[in-house]
Amino acid sequence: MLKDSTKLIIFIIMSSLLMGCASLSAQTDRDDYRQQAIEILESVPLFDGHNDVPWQYRNRVGYKFSELDFYDTTHLDRPMHTDIPRLREGRVGAQWWSVYVSANISEPEAVKQTLEQVDFVHRMVEKYPDHFELALTADDVERIFAEGKIASLIGMEGGHSINNSLAVLRMFHELGARYMTITHGRTLDWADAAGDDPQHDGLNEFGEEVIREMNRLGMAVDLSHVTPATMKDAIRVTEAPVMFSHSNARAVSNHPRNVPDDVLQLLPEVDGLVMVTFVESFTSEELRRWYAERNGVRAKVESLYAGQPDMIREKMQEWMDENEMPKSTLEQVADHIDHIRDQIGVDYIGIGGDYDGISSLPLGLEDVSTYPDLFAELLRRGYSEEDLRKIAGENMLRVMRGIEATAERLQNEREPSEVLITDFE
Ligand SMILES: [Zn+2]
Repeated sequence: MLKDSTKLIIFIIMSSLLMGCASLSAQTDRDDYRQQAIEILESVPLFDGHNDVPWQYRNRVGYKFSELDFYDTTHLDRPMHTDIPRLREGRVGAQWWSVYVSANISEPEAVKQTLEQVDFVHRMVEKYPDHFELALTADDVERIFAEGKIASLIGMEGGHSINNSLAVLRMFHELGARYMTITHGRTLDWADAAGDDPQHDGLNEFGEEVIREMNRLGMAVDLSHVTPATMKDAIRVTEAPVMFSHSNARAVSNHPRNVPDDVLQLLPEVDGLVMVTFVESFTSEELRRWYAERNGVRAKVESLYAGQPDMIREKMQEWMDENEMPKSTLEQVADHIDHIRDQIGVDYIGIGGDYDGISSLPLGLEDVSTYPDLFAELLRRGYSEEDLRKIAGENMLRVMRGIEATAERLQNEREPSEVLITDFE
């Protein structure tokens, strides 16, 4: 039996704890949750699905670290969204570095440029060994995170980078690539892209063979940038989990780059993951409509005043003055997360910011230091710490392990594919 005095002390402690909870829950300001968010992000690797730093280094300085130090990219004329101190401040624990190249160049040239991008990631982790290490597996990610470094993974953005060759695909895997987005903005010989004219009603036979070979290799099938028909074909064919490295919910903003509800509904069965992105026009429906209107007005003005560039500029400026561009917000990004959770639950959500792949970002998510603010907003909305750990990194780790286990099984079952695209022509 406890003494009365001990009971009194326990009573006082308990009631002050309860009062503390009550006053905390009464405060709705996101800042109150920031510290809690940071502590969660220090316990699990925050795993971002898409960052275009390699593309920035290519375009700005021809990949020369001697001309652009990754310790500070804020002093540039056009500051970057990413550098080492801000990645640390944002508590990033694992990053899929995109090795994107334009889909509008020839495919053999795309293979060369993608190799240069892959080379950049390898050189970056060698250049900054205290901060980065190349990760090839989920175990690597956890080990590197535990050592206080940022696990660095390579994601290819678009099947144009394999020039219709499974041999090239296999060699990119050999060099460390662990996801490939099936297309970028251009429909390929074997897969339809969102925003381009469809030619195959999704994937053709070679496209399905690409998915099967990626499953066998242990490379994640990334369905950002493809049409709903391609998403559904890939989900039907795949034997491993799939991912969307940077896409939002189409029911919230009806952009073709986002994921429709009927596709979301298919994800639990294949253990798929949507990494919610910060691209402004995918985030805000209001902004998407504003862009569409502006493009329509521009087409009309250009037609009305053909050959009079000054007049066109003046008329467009008039329209812009009357129609202020709406700004997307961190809260709207959280709305996409809410929607996906309401549709299929928190197990299928991740984060894929697309930093340095876009020029403007939602208010509150201006650079890679801001991730804790998004997680604080989710806490404010009532998400649990367990939910946040899943969204931050546990879901991506589980998906990677599923992909790795499938690859191990398939490598025992079948030989590398001998199929050529010409087999189907
Ligand atoms: Zn993209």
